[in-house]
Amino acid sequence: MFENKKIFILGMGRSGVSVARLLSDKNEILITDMKHNESQEEELALLGVNVEITDKQVDLLDDSFDVVVKNPGVKLDHPVVLKANSFNIPVITELEVAYRYLPDVKIVGITGSNGKTTTTTLTYEFMKEAGLPVHLAGNIGLPLCDQIKDIKDGDVLVIEVSSHQLINLDKFKVDVAVLTNLSEVHLDHFGTYEKYKMNKLRIFKYQNKNDIAIINKGDEEVYRLTNDLESNKFYFSSKGEADAYVSGDYIIYNGEKVLKLSDIRLKGMHNYENIMAAMLVCMQFNVSFDIIKNVLNRFGGVAHRMEYAGEVNGRTFYNDSKATNVVSTITALKSFDNDVILLLGGLDRGHSFDDLVPYLNHTKRIVCYGETKERIKDFALKNNIDVSLVNDVREAVHEAYNNSDEGDTILLSPACASWDQFDNFEQRGDAFKDEIKSL
Ligand code: ADP
Repeated sequence: MFENKKIFILGMGRSGVSVARLLSDKNEILITDMKHNESQEEELALLGVNVEITDKQVDLLDDSFDVVVKNPGVKLDHPVVLKANSFNIPVITELEVAYRYLPDVKIVGITGSNGKTTTTTLTYEFMKEAGLPVHLAGNIGLPLCDQIKDIKDGDVLVIEVSSHQLINLDKFKVDVAVLTNLSEVHLDHFGTYEKYKMNKLRIFKYQNKNDIAIINKGDEEVYRLTNDLESNKFYFSSKGEADAYVSGDYIIYNGEKVLKLSDIRLKGMHNYENIMAAMLVCMQFNVSFDIIKNVLNRFGGVAHRMEYAGEVNGRTFYNDSKATNVVSTITALKSFDNDVILLLGGLDRGHSFDDLVPYLNHTKRIVCYGETKERIKDFALKNNIDVSLVNDVREAVHEAYNNSDEGDTILLSPACASWDQFDNFEQRGDAFKDEIKSL
């Protein structure tokens, strides 16, 4: 716990403000950002927190501070971080602050390159349905510091832990750790893939043989790197036998067919992996398969990530607006074996769409829109795929529907960022879902 400390908070985002709220009555706090945010500044002033808006944040730090709390997104070579290091001032993040205030709880920490939000949400939904006293935190939900007052002994915390949060963890220990997979993302932050991978393994830091590690056996790198862990390991795999694995139309657990894939609304092998990971966590908390089935029957996915977006006259709609690059769109395309009409387009970063080609054998038409529409049209024609060119996502919904047949899937998985026409991918996905209602 922090008392009578001098605390430097770098970044006035949600996490920084939640730390200030938690610590302000017993400590002296300076919070700094480069941009104003009036409503937050007002609240912080009422708490007696000193707010400094400046682009020379480094000048505010001297060796009288006891700790720096940085926003997870702030890089390790930020001048404030470097200066704190030179003064030997610890640099931590919001999660680490909250950890010191937790009563006697069980913590589930979920990390990996992809599937974190989906796996975390599924775990939380399964537990909530089972009536467990569970809280959702980390990258999603309310910052943990804001939830401390509602957390009691015996509660369960399900926390999505990003690589950025892992870097500055100090004492944070999870009882059940999940590593979904590893691929080369965020290298800008970490420099090399090697460093990125080593950082991800920090989720298991402090675990011993009484703790649980849930590991993707189908990801060779994950399997190899976790082999020596002392933790009690449980494996899932979509590529071969494991504690939980996929075989035919079933998920098998302990040798028994426990879930039927065709009864699950979420689609795609990647989502079956997320389900198995969440399921293995829940086995540790005695959640029954009936409960898990109930949730999977209705759970259409996390918003904008291969989210089931309804059915109109036999056409099924999926919203994968979060797919802002070609790799994510490939993941989405691999999820369908029926005819697909694919909505593609958005901000033009000059990137190529060629990597999509091997995955387009079920795509009977591409509807393109936005800044990249002309380039996508040329790409479709070159590959002998029917194509329609429209202005925006809303028009694309109608164009796709008018060219579809019963049994088709209409998929928004744009392979481009949304910023040519929207503020963010959420807005784009909402426009898509909204327009479906007008059909
Ligand atoms: P994260 O929180 O790690 O970004 P999400 O659950 O938000 O992951 O999913 C984001 C996208 O990542 C999905 O739309 C899908 O394209 C891809 N994805 C999700 N789960 C997996 C997985 N287990 N393996 C590979 N890709 C995945």
